[in-house]
Amino acid sequence: MKLNSLHEGKFPITPDMANFAVDGERKIASTKEATGEVVFRREVDGGKYGKKEIKIALHPAPHRNYADVETNTIHISKNPRQPYYRQYESMIKHELVHLFDPKVTDKNLRNKSWGVENVPEDLLGRLSDKKYYELPWEVDAYMATRAEDHIKNMIRKGYDKEQIRQIVSEPEPTTEYEGFIHGNKKLWRKYKRVLHDEYKKING
Ligand SMILES: [Zn+2]
Repeated sequence: MKLNSLHEGKFPITPDMANFAVDGERKIASTKEATGEVVFRREVDGGKYGKKEIKIALHPAPHRNYADVETNTIHISKNPRQPYYRQYESMIKHELVHLFDPKVTDKNLRNKSWGVENVPEDLLGRLSDKKYYELPWEVDAYMATRAEDHIKNMIRKGYDKEQIRQIVSEPEPTTEYEGFIHGNKKLWRKYKRVLHDEYKKING
């Protein structure tokens, strides 16, 4: 398999994946006690990447959010101070992308190609931030979720279309993640493109 051909830039999130994230967030919001148990599960249609039964296990904070490819489980930390609106939906989507992305699910490919051999799943996120954000599967998962979140947050804050258009045409980094990719010309260019595509969606 050719590695470059696996690099999506922006991972194609199917409607069923998006619905799973919405339903999962609802379930998390209505679950009173996080105990590390699975609180939600159903089959998800990942389009060209097939169908899988995906589970969400909810942990008391602090606990790292990650996707376990062995069991198709998304581990999420329930932080009582976290506002519900879209926060969990976005986290679920990010981890869901990992569970369908062949760069992640094919461990041989992943370990040999990107030098993360023998790094346990739940420790991968503790690589130095720069290295972590530049891992090809993280690029895909962040590109797939961050631009959409950025646009939706602006709408939620009441920005009008013209204000959003201006911000999208000359974006400044507003999150830690955007701060990192801002320092990488290629990634920032890609992000601006994805942001513009998301803007076109709301602007018809
Ligand atoms: Zn990730």
